[in-house]
Amino acid sequence: MVDLKKLKQEKLKQSLKKKLDSNVRVFVDENSPCLFRDVSKCIKCGRCKEACEMATGLAQHYDVNKPGKPDVCIGCGQCTLSCGVDSLREKSSYRQVLEELNNYDKVLVVSTAPAVRVALSEEFGFDFGKYDEGKMITALRMLGFDYVFDVTFGADLTVMEEANELVSRITKKAGKLPMFTSCCPSWVKFVEMFEPSIIPNLSTAKSPIAMQGSIIKTYFARQKKKKPEDIVHVVITPCTAKKYEITREELSVSDDFGYMPGVKDVDYVLTTRELAHLIRRQNIPYGNLYDGTFDELFPRGSGGGVIFGSSGGVMESALREAYYILTGNMPSENLLKLEKVRGLNGVKEDEINIGGAIVKVAVINGIKNAYDIIQKVKNNTCDYDFIEVMTCPGGCIGGGGQPKVKNVDDFIRKKRSDALYSKDESLNIRCAHNNPQIIKVYNDFLDGPLSETSKALLHTKYFDRSKEIKKL
Ligand code: SF4
Repeated sequence: MVDLKKLKQEKLKQSLKKKLDSNVRVFVDENSPCLFRDVSKCIKCGRCKEACEMATGLAQHYDVNKPGKPDVCIGCGQCTLSCGVDSLREKSSYRQVLEELNNYDKVLVVSTAPAVRVALSEEFGFDFGKYDEGKMITALRMLGFDYVFDVTFGADLTVMEEANELVSRITKKAGKLPMFTSCCPSWVKFVEMFEPSIIPNLSTAKSPIAMQGSIIKTYFARQKKKKPEDIVHVVITPCTAKKYEITREELSVSDDFGYMPGVKDVDYVLTTRELAHLIRRQNIPYGNLYDGTFDELFPRGSGGGVIFGSSGGVMESALREAYYILTGNMPSENLLKLEKVRGLNGVKEDEINIGGAIVKVAVINGIKNAYDIIQKVKNNTCDYDFIEVMTCPGGCIGGGGQPKVKNVDDFIRKKRSDALYSKDESLNIRCAHNNPQIIKVYNDFLDGPLSETSKALLHTKYFDRSKEIKKL
């Protein structure tokens, strides 16, 4: 028999807890794939709530995240960086990954996002913003991965698809303008929940990790004569929201490109912090490791793929490519260093002359800074052609899964960002279309950007999720 008194008490307890959450701290759903709160450690300082609002501006602009209103989380994890008592952290997956690493029947593949390599070594006492992919690669091999790939390959694919999509929206009117980038899962979730009317403005190109996952579970699987389910693909990211992104069924298209229940294109996401934890846990002497190199097939991508980790980087890379598509020429030095879209300002803008046509662009650093532009898009008074939005301050280098050995501030963000731009400048290949592996995959398998195969594997769809807010 149902104990009504107990049920009532439980309801009251829940509603008091929610009230406390709304007033003092961010609410973390126990089913969140991204975040976890250890309530016993929380000192109710309220810093998480401030960090959430600083990044998203949700309570200021929408009727949520305040007393008596629904609590909404878009998974960016900025709250975890602000929590000084380790009460808030990512929903950890490292135990499952450790188990997989002992599964000798599977092919274990890991891919690492660009922002990870300029922050991981902070966990081991090195300077902020040290570009260090070599030790990271060796550590991943020592953990037991069979293949270590670079997400900058996936970033190059995203650029190829997104730039072609932009050009076709501009020249053939094949879609709405302005086109927004879509590689930040928190931004995508925000649009789906709060601003679904601008869904047609989102690029349909998948994020770099999602494209990388689809290629690994199809092209790579066929090369290795494996089925998608025989491969475990782990991605190391600076991002807690990617843990949510990989749960989106429409992003898993392996096995003859149709969704096959239970088989994901990316099986696990670990944050930079979780990787550091794993390295320590397995007693790997990070500081003394020799420099490893990525495995062939998907080694480091172009410089354009490397700068994806900084606010403005996605825009800059896509414009290099759009310039090449429209003029047939390599971008000039100016285009290879688009100063106006770099840096930590909330809104950055530029006008680019591409073969006589002026393309107006904006880069939004932090969703809270997107509000005014979104209103203009909805009123048809926005004259930008292309807009990048990233949720975290400074872009993914400031992601919610990055180390927090010291309070992460603009000094640290700039150091990490500068490291990515310096790497880009040092590389011979700066544009995705010059990357030999990209050329090979398009020739051997994909049949060119925006082909039928590319659309099936590398593009996605979005959904109006505004009703989910009312349900809360
Ligand atoms: Fe993740 Fe980067 Fe978006 Fe932050 S800005 S939520 S790290 S994708």
